[in-house]
Amino acid sequence: MSRQDIPEGYAVIQLADNQWYPVRVERFYSDAYPDGLLNLYPIRLDEQEQHFSRRKEAVAYCQSDAALWEDLERRRYERKTVESNVYPERCIHYQEIIQDITGYPPMVDRFYDGVSVYVPGYHCASCGSYHPHVVKEALTIEDALEACAEQVYAVNEQCTLTGMVRDLTLVTPL
Ligand SMILES: [Zn+2]
Repeated sequence: MSRQDIPEGYAVIQLADNQWYPVRVERFYSDAYPDGLLNLYPIRLDEQEQHFSRRKEAVAYCQSDAALWEDLERRRYERKTVESNVYPERCIHYQEIIQDITGYPPMVDRFYDGVSVYVPGYHCASCGSYHPHVVKEALTIEDALEACAEQVYAVNEQCTLTGMVRDLTLVTPL
């Protein structure tokens, strides 16, 4: 971004007082305004509408305001992925499914931009064979756990079915 670029969602306007005002721009669409309606919000600081005598100062203000919001958004996103306590009861539910079937709790790795859940390979109680590990990545712990739990559960369903068919074969005289 060059020094004179106005970030997306911002504008600078010059009013009758000859001052330049940095504003946030939002576009709304509705039945009454199918082409969209622009709303301009002056940027206030301590109840004062920010204004500058020179255009480039107003543009610079837009840039720093945009950077601030970007930073806030990033932190919010980080908190969401790292703490991810939005649905703790969902996480526990999925962890229990995985542990019930595999015998081990899944391992959770947190990254800057997501979460990886690792389910170690296990000897299956239903079919007696060894099932390889499962790894799923997602933005949040609950989503990664859900993906793992779904796969482990699906494999287990298949195994239980196979086990039932085998038992059936054993008890049914050929
Ligand atoms: Zn199995």
